[in-house]
Amino acid sequence: MTQSAKIITRFAPSPSGDLHLGHAYSAKLSYDFSVQKGGDFILRIEDIDHLRCKAEHEKSILTDLRWLDLKWPTPIRRQSNHFTDYKAALDKLESMELLYPCFCTRRDIINEIEESTRAPHMRPKFGPEGIIYPGTCRHLTTEEQQQKVDDGIPHALRFNTNKALGLLKAPLYWTDCKTGEQKATPELLGDVILARKDFPASYHLCVVVDDHIQMINHVIRGQDLYYASHFHRLLQHLLKLNTPIYDHHPLLATRDGNRLAKRDKSITIKSIRESGIGPDQIDELIKEYL
Ligand code: GLU
Repeated sequence: MTQSAKIITRFAPSPSGDLHLGHAYSAKLSYDFSVQKGGDFILRIEDIDHLRCKAEHEKSILTDLRWLDLKWPTPIRRQSNHFTDYKAALDKLESMELLYPCFCTRRDIINEIEESTRAPHMRPKFGPEGIIYPGTCRHLTTEEQQQKVDDGIPHALRFNTNKALGLLKAPLYWTDCKTGEQKATPELLGDVILARKDFPASYHLCVVVDDHIQMINHVIRGQDLYYASHFHRLLQHLLKLNTPIYDHHPLLATRDGNRLAKRDKSITIKSIRESGIGPDQIDELIKEYL
């Protein structure tokens, strides 16, 4: 598939709560950019996490976005309808022997890290998204893996990042609108989970598959996903998917420096809407948190 010359942006919320002002900022940046460029704006619902995503949240997200005067083509792609696409991508990575089952619980990982801090030569590594998975299950033999499966221990699928990097003939690059061409450094995230224990995919996998299928060529999203873009570039290369241009915007924060979060009820779009503020005042409000 060739990259379309027409700008195609997207907003891809997870319906796990109400949208807040930070989401409105992100959605409006994408929408306004597509309008300014005569392009398309797509809304995608990222609802693979059936434990956290709810129909009522999706409904209120759509109401909020309509109130913000955003328009998008229908039908909307909902990730929960497309597990076969993600499975095909996983199978491809599996056939390259880049996935391994990980049986660790959060507790196991913490224990492993506590253990390693006692041995100074094995200090845990910290990446931009926190502690890097220490690789416990990467070293299991096929027999050990099978034993754990037979014992009924649930597992996720992790991506062997260093092994994948070893397959590259040359470094990979991607473009960030603000900082220019970036050399991809996915090793900073370590061995990322691509299929979770409770559902057979993960954000990192689905997002690259969907952006490709929907021909998104300009991704505007929060600065918190900057390092994810390094990892996404590697997946795009291995899966032969298109790489969009990325623009990472600053995150909104309160005066005391805290990021806006879904739990802050006061700045949800719903509460703003219900307080009598108009959609034309949103840009002013956003500036107070930038
Ligand atoms: N569903 C993701 C989120 O809500 C979207 C991230 C992205 O734009 O890539 O954070």
